[in-house]
Amino acid sequence: MSYVLETGYLVAAVLLILGLRGMSSPRTAHRGLTWVGIGMVVAVLVTFIRTGAGNIGLMLTALVIGGVLAAVYGRQVPMTAMPQGVALFNGMGGGAAGAIAAVELVGGAAVGGAPLVLGVLGALIGTVSFAGSGVAFGKLQGWMRRPVRFPAMPMVNGAVALAAVALGFAVIAGAQMDPVLAAYFAAAVALGILVTLPIGGADMPVVISLYNAATGLAVAFEGYLLNNPAMVIAGTVVGAAGTLLTLLMAKAMHRSVLQVVGAGFRAPEAAAEATESGGILKGTEPVDAAIQLGYARKVIIVPGYGMAVAQAQHKVWELVQRLRERGVEVRFAIHPVAGRMPGHMNVLLAEAGVPYDMVADLESVNPEFARADVALVIGANDVVNPSARDVPDSPIYGMPILNVDEADNAIVIKRGGGQGFSGVENPLFTADNTRILFRDALDGASELVQALKQV
Ligand code: NAP
Repeated sequence: MSYVLETGYLVAAVLLILGLRGMSSPRTAHRGLTWVGIGMVVAVLVTFIRTGAGNIGLMLTALVIGGVLAAVYGRQVPMTAMPQGVALFNGMGGGAAGAIAAVELVGGAAVGGAPLVLGVLGALIGTVSFAGSGVAFGKLQGWMRRPVRFPAMPMVNGAVALAAVALGFAVIAGAQMDPVLAAYFAAAVALGILVTLPIGGADMPVVISLYNAATGLAVAFEGYLLNNPAMVIAGTVVGAAGTLLTLLMAKAMHRSVLQVVGAGFRAPEAAAEATESGGILKGTEPVDAAIQLGYARKVIIVPGYGMAVAQAQHKVWELVQRLRERGVEVRFAIHPVAGRMPGHMNVLLAEAGVPYDMVADLESVNPEFARADVALVIGANDVVNPSARDVPDSPIYGMPILNVDEADNAIVIKRGGGQGFSGVENPLFTADNTRILFRDALDGASELVQALKQV
């Protein structure tokens, strides 16, 4: 029987690895997800049989509640709210790893050696990830717009981090009494919250993928404690993939991971608040914008979060086709963190049928803006904010941007004076050569298509 169960875990592990590999390309991503799903079902079934029927009532209840909630949420959540979903489910994974450790440590089942050390370490990482992901969820949901800091934060955070480490050593040294364990988990929760609170909006993609990696690591450590190979393999794969994604995201944002997570351990930089420029937004109308676009030689389109919310990608592609029929050269410029999840814009444009060769990444397209007659920004803000390049005091300073301000003219489709995700004012919008088409992205693109017929 044990041979069959171990084989079941092996099958689950192979499915998880193959599934993850499938997710590396948009073409095979759907199949990859299906394999991961089947792998998880196999792993859950094997665990179910392995742990016996002692707690069958509780286990079934948990499975039904979790399954129903996840299915309902998964069906209803819009694409633009996916990062919140990732933060939420990621936090659950970290919390589950922490809960497993708590059960093992409180019950005294974890005795000495590597399993105890890994169990205690996994408890810290999982619980920090649980609490930090909760804060990240709140930020992404728009409940906390600005980074939260207070003057004594670096000292408090340092003290909490030291307390967590000291308590962890005490637990490993055998102090597994309830008050010490409770203090250890409380310190981990406090650390997760305090580390995440001061992190600015534009750095959230890095934080989410970091917690994702951390959860994977915590699950792998707890798998070692429980002697569960499926948890070790799945956790290691998630941890490794998440670490790579975190490093790539940090590199794309010109940040180091330490810089991002260390925000709460540093004194706030002077004048880190955004300043009001006092500039005026100058509006335009569809016909005027259509004239500028229709008579241009070269147009670069910069899509952002607003295009995703409005689901305007099909209309935008129709607009591009009309422009190309008129002989206008058009390219799409994609910023690595445009929208609300990695690859968000690429997915939307692929869905609308935009050919890959029209889509350019930040490095390759940036030199082209200076030669573009018009840059058309559709619901993007932070990723085209020149303060990130020019204003050292800006909270988003250092983040690479698309150089829309170097184009001869910029047309921005947005609904009003709304700010971007980071809440920082954007001087591009008040520049002399920028005009705003105050519309929802779908309406704006539709009206431009209509107006082009008249020019
Ligand atoms: P953004 O900075 O969030 O700006 C979006 C702009 O779109 C806003 O100025 C808003 O202005 C406008 N807008 C909203 N709804 C609209 C609609 N229906 N029609 C037209 N315009 C609309 O977006 P972004 O430039 O794409 O930058 C992404 C930001 O999200 C970055 O700060 C990034 O760090 C962060 N982030 C990214 C990820 C990721 O993985 N990609 C994950 C988490 C966070 P109005 O309200 O005036 O319309």
